[in-house]
Amino acid sequence: MLYDLIIVGGGIAGLTAAIYARRGGLNTLLLEGGAPGGQIIASPELENYPALPKVSGVAFVQRLLEQTAALELEIKYETVSKLHLTEEIKEVETASGAKYQARTIIWAAGLVARRLDCPGEEQFLGRGVSFCAACDGMLYKGKDVAVIGGGNTALEEALFLSKICLHVHLVHRRDSFRAEAALVQKIKQRPNIVLHMPAQVSRFEGNKRLEQLVLQTPDGREVLPTAAVFQAIGKLPSNQILSDNLALDASGYVIAGEDCCTALPGVYVAGDCRTKPLRQLITAAADGAVAASRAIAYLH
Ligand code: NAP
Repeated sequence: MLYDLIIVGGGIAGLTAAIYARRGGLNTLLLEGGAPGGQIIASPELENYPALPKVSGVAFVQRLLEQTAALELEIKYETVSKLHLTEEIKEVETASGAKYQARTIIWAAGLVARRLDCPGEEQFLGRGVSFCAACDGMLYKGKDVAVIGGGNTALEEALFLSKICLHVHLVHRRDSFRAEAALVQKIKQRPNIVLHMPAQVSRFEGNKRLEQLVLQTPDGREVLPTAAVFQAIGKLPSNQILSDNLALDASGYVIAGEDCCTALPGVYVAGDCRTKPLRQLITAAADGAVAASRAIAYLH
């Protein structure tokens, strides 16, 4: 079967592209390698999306999925392993060996969590080391936990966990935050959030489960007992699969402007995996809409 459009990635950019494509009458397939919704699923509470001042990431995604289901979007949960993008008919291969063809492609594969890459991290994955407070936070109710990072994600995770856990140790490598001022103010007002900054995690220690972090601080080595650590040190693009066909910048983002067009006719890139000055829910959604509109115009 030849689709009008294949969307790779079921995060906010991909799902928004699907809404516009289906409403534009495109026969559309969306491929997603993991759970739908992307990074926003991990967000305990969104506060800056217009007209939705307080909504959880999970609730936001649920409503989006209902919206796409009503538009009869076809979704397959498969991981893309190869792309052929240079011909008029594009082909997408998946890890299961399936091949799908379309006249246009929107690449909306998002980002993956950056790792600290220090001793013990791998060993305690799922046994104290987590990347999602909304998913795993309740497992540590009433206990002491740590959050690593100084960006919006880390501060949001710390605020969320502070309502469930006894103490939240926020560990950041610098003595000032990257996060927006409103979040920093809230963090400073929360009595059970303890700041450790500047401090770097140098190893994760425990027996069967994580029991403590070893921190490097200006005063030397510090041991921080903790039942869990939530890492929020940013995200990285996973665009390597495109590098034969499309230009990536030095950090691995696909180079494309606000029109989401790439150098290849019929191939678009949307969301956080694109070069852009602001990576937010609203800009991912906007990209999805723009990319789908461009695909519709190209097909017509
Ligand atoms: P981010 O803004 O890139 O922050 C990553 C944090 O991790 C920084 O504080 C960074 O420290 C630290 N870090 C990076 N590598 C590290 C390492 N190897 N060891 C220790 N610390 C390390 O990432 P993010 O918080 O995930 O946010 C990503 C994007 O999503 C941002 O544009 C953010 O504004 C957006 N976002 C928005 C919202 C919202 O608007 N509600 C919520 C979440 C995320 P340095 O500061 O020293 O570099």
